[in-house]
Amino acid sequence: MNATKKRVALVTGANRGIGFEIARQLAQKDMTLLLSARDDKSGFDARQMLSAQQLDVHYLPIDVSDQTSIQAAIGKVKDKFGRLDVLVNNAGIMIDGQTRILELSLSMFQNTLATNALGPLLLSQACIPLMKENGYGRIVNVSSTLGSLNDIINPDSSYAEVQAPAYRLSKTVLNGLTVLLAKELRGTNILVSAVCPGWVRTRMGGDEAPVAPSDAAETPVWLATLPDD
Ligand code: NAP
Repeated sequence: MNATKKRVALVTGANRGIGFEIARQLAQKDMTLLLSARDDKSGFDARQMLSAQQLDVHYLPIDVSDQTSIQAAIGKVKDKFGRLDVLVNNAGIMIDGQTRILELSLSMFQNTLATNALGPLLLSQACIPLMKENGYGRIVNVSSTLGSLNDIINPDSSYAEVQAPAYRLSKTVLNGLTVLLAKELRGTNILVSAVCPGWVRTRMGGDEAPVAPSDAAETPVWLATLPDD
């Protein structure tokens, strides 16, 4: 099919939290927004909220831990829109908050890696050929300071008491993936970044967190719309 003229952006885990706000703010920039979620009802409800604000938003089901789901979704994007300009890998889980590294189970580690790191890799691999067709792409990986090796080893870090070994390591992998993709895509006008949104008031961040989701979305949105240089 002929590609649509407007830029098309895909945000994973966009039914709530930071992802919902990134989706809202990108849609406000006159893009066609593919709001992706793993649960149809919450995905439709979120899309409905944004459509009610006259934004151009479509629901796209994706479970980022499922390769078949990713391939089916990007196939639909190709057929329906013929282009994909922005990918925000936002979906994430933290299921091992209190677990210590010596007690970390294989299944907890595998599940966390599948969602937080392998999903972004598979999505990037699926989307980059579409981006290359237009000579334009922005990939933003929503990462965390908890994945920084400098932070993990720093006894004075404000996060020094945080355990979450699977979550931390998944974000370390995501950071490494970001750098490897950026290196691989140098010179293609497909820019790849990672960002920590801060400690944010969401289901994951909890009620005590100081940053509102709308503020946390600002840097990912800026990275998703970086100029070519
Ligand atoms: P959240 O409110 O818990 O939202 C997480 C989102 O990810 C939900 O939409 C969830 O969908 C989705 N998700 C989880 N597993 C998925 C899967 N397999 N496939 C598709 N979607 C999936 O968390 P948040 O705070 O907005 O987090 C967003 C991102 O920011 C995450 O990558 C997180 O690691 C990162 N981050 C958050 C903070 C913070 O303080 N909140 C700090 C640093 C980094 P369901 O509704 O179906 O569960």
